Amino acid sequence: MTQKRILITGAAGFLGSHLCDRFIKEGFKVVAMDNLLTGNIKNIEHLFPLANFEYYHHDVTKFVHVPGDLDYILHFASPASPIDYLKMPIQTLKVGALGTHNLLGLARSKNARILVASTSEVYGDPMVHPQTEDYWGNVNPVGPRGVYDEAKRFMESITMAYHTYHNVDTRIIRIFNTYGPRMRLDDGRVLPAFIGQALRGEDLTAFGDGSQTRSFCYVDDLVEGIYRLLMSDYAYPVNIGNPDEITIGDFAEEIIRLTGTSSKIIYKPLPQDDPKQRKPDITKAKEILGWGPTINRSEGLKRTLEYFMTVIPKSV
Ligand code: UDP
Repeated sequence: MTQKRILITGAAGFLGSHLCDRFIKEGFKVVAMDNLLTGNIKNIEHLFPLANFEYYHHDVTKFVHVPGDLDYILHFASPASPIDYLKMPIQTLKVGALGTHNLLGLARSKNARILVASTSEVYGDPMVHPQTEDYWGNVNPVGPRGVYDEAKRFMESITMAYHTYHNVDTRIIRIFNTYGPRMRLDDGRVLPAFIGQALRGEDLTAFGDGSQTRSFCYVDDLVEGIYRLLMSDYAYPVNIGNPDEITIGDFAEEIIRLTGTSSKIIYKPLPQDDPKQRKPDITKAKEILGWGPTINRSEGLKRTLEYFMTVIPKSV
């Protein structure tokens, strides 16, 4: 069997770097691409000595050229936390729209299968709970999250258009909140925020009254779902996430217990358009991919805390 070659965009990011590890482990040649806008080269540094690994520093909103054959493309480049896309609204729109267009063109010219990373944000502040793939969502296009949500909705749309009009072999994953080692400590997301605060002995900042819910998936489970979807023959969107739902207030208490900190919870204003509830319906992933999460929150948080203890200077 000839060795397969895969391009991974956003390769130095949280998810991209775990995908590089997984595909190297599966025996692929991995072509990693990133412009390091929100990624960190440290996440993939350990792969540089490998013969099966190459890295291109490139912004995918510009024409993407990769010499040689490609069998697969994973498009994971994008700012992905609310703080990041508030700071970089134009880049967020461009990478979801122009970046996806460039990579679909590349997939077409190389005859490669492409999987694009969409998100539960396409459901906006959902009126259907849990969210099924056939729900069209409740998104405010001109709100602060609109730049991410609408770019990802466009991403899905243009991906389906390339599938039906140009016969490109496409896959669309809708990723729900995911956590694990290599999350950026300063990306503003709730998990690094809470763990950072707890380890520094600061109070945990719950937004709103803490009654909004999220459902957190450990990164290894997500990567397995991505792998299975890529290898499947299903071109429509598939939710991948862990349906174990928790309120943000309860999550803060869980982090306090886990870290043993004496920090308290303080309440801050709820950001605009913050979804009140989020939980994936994963019936499709189960039926089509035979996939479901295997790592529960207490195990996943234990592994994630170990990582954060290595990157946060001890102050307590
Ligand atoms: N959140 C919070 N405190 C923080 C950061 C986030 O209470 O310091 C809340 C946020 O308002 C949202 C949830 O935690 O309701 C998850 O936020 P995150 O930024 O991780 O991602 P989202 O799921 O909103 O995209």
